[in-house]
Amino acid sequence: MQWTDTEYKLQVRERLGVISQRIRQAQEKTGRAKEPVRLIAVTKYVDVQRVLALQSEGLKDFGENRWQSASSKVEAFSGGTWHFIGPLQRNKVLAVARHFAWIHSVDRPQLADEIGRAANQLGKTVSVLLQVNISGEQQKSGIAPAQALDLLLHCRALSGVNVRGLMAIGRQVDDPEDARQDFAALRMLRDRLQTASGVSLPELSMGMSNDFDVAVEEGATMVRVGRLLVASGTS
Ligand SMILES: *Cc1c(COP(=O)(O)O)cnc(C)c1O
Repeated sequence: MQWTDTEYKLQVRERLGVISQRIRQAQEKTGRAKEPVRLIAVTKYVDVQRVLALQSEGLKDFGENRWQSASSKVEAFSGGTWHFIGPLQRNKVLAVARHFAWIHSVDRPQLADEIGRAANQLGKTVSVLLQVNISGEQQKSGIAPAQALDLLLHCRALSGVNVRGLMAIGRQVDDPEDARQDFAALRMLRDRLQTASGVSLPELSMGMSNDFDVAVEEGATMVRVGRLLVASGTS
């Protein structure tokens, strides 16, 4: 059953309250209560009407992982900040760079080059995160940790590209505690890269519906929450 707009907004308000409180608790547990954590609503499951409802409930950051399903939403929408979080093909880069302020999924130098070219053409700067395959699972996208420094140095030299940090997807496990090692490893990699390059990398994009509490405890500054926050209707 699909909810009406009013029912949907009430649901979102309630879920937002719960999620915000869980983020606060995770921050307090680790003494990071004053550091902001940005909640990105991953809207790939819903249409533009629902995105507008999410915005009216106070959400400001929205994430999409495929241009095909994002285009109708980002084009119909104003205000708010869009984050591209999925695999990105070079022929979609110009469209994505036009509408998205952030790209979380930079995992190879050619893609960074293309983003730089698009940004220059559009007269803007795109904030990017380097996606790292921190768990080393074969099927996962992301650059290997050992190659991350080279990619970072490559990106730093590009105009139109502003590298702000790292992104990873924790391993899919029943108990989110088992993903903690991935989040901790991403944070430690970030610390090493900062030291080695002198580039400041304040952002860590990690944590989704099933593991965002643990990710925040391990230093996430951005969590990407879909199902738990935006899903529409009873299932
Ligand atoms: C879909 C998606 C999310 C959100 O996942 P949920 O489990 O629905 O919270 C986060 N990050 C990426 C890269 C995604 O593709």
